[in-house]
Amino acid sequence: MSVRAGGCLCGAVRYEAGGEPLFSLQCHCRDCQRASGAAHVAAVRMPSAQFRITKGAPKTYIAKSDAGNEISRVFCGDCGTPLCVQVATRPDLVGLRVTTFDDPSFFKPDADIFTKSAQPWDHFDPAVPKFDTYPVGKSY
Ligand SMILES: [Zn+2]
Ligand SMILES: [Zn+2]
Repeated sequence: MSVRAGGCLCGAVRYEAGGEPLFSLQCHCRDCQRASGAAHVAAVRMPSAQFRITKGAPKTYIAKSDAGNEISRVFCGDCGTPLCVQVATRPDLVGLRVTTFDDPSFFKPDADIFTKSAQPWDHFDPAVPKFDTYPVGKSY
């Protein structure tokens, strides 16, 4: 079983995530754009039971999704790096920012989501499936 380590820019917060991604996505929602400063965010949904903070105490900002669900956005209070997201309806999953892994090169996107708010200056891989919001049947 693989365990991947990661952390924030300043090193105050470190984490480990075990298991394999259940869903790999590029999110184009406005919240991710604002929080990241980028046109879209690369994220992987991993089993929360195998995720743990190994150093530091990140802060949490709770926002509401379009569907009204609470989304906890976890970030380093010192350097501001967004680390992960947890949706109240899916406590079994944690959504990790791929770029915070020590080696983010494993990422292979299954989907582009929330393309309804994608920026016209972003670039898309036509081989990756696109969804206006969430793919049907995915509740996270
Ligand atoms: Zn930090
Ligand atoms: Zn998003």
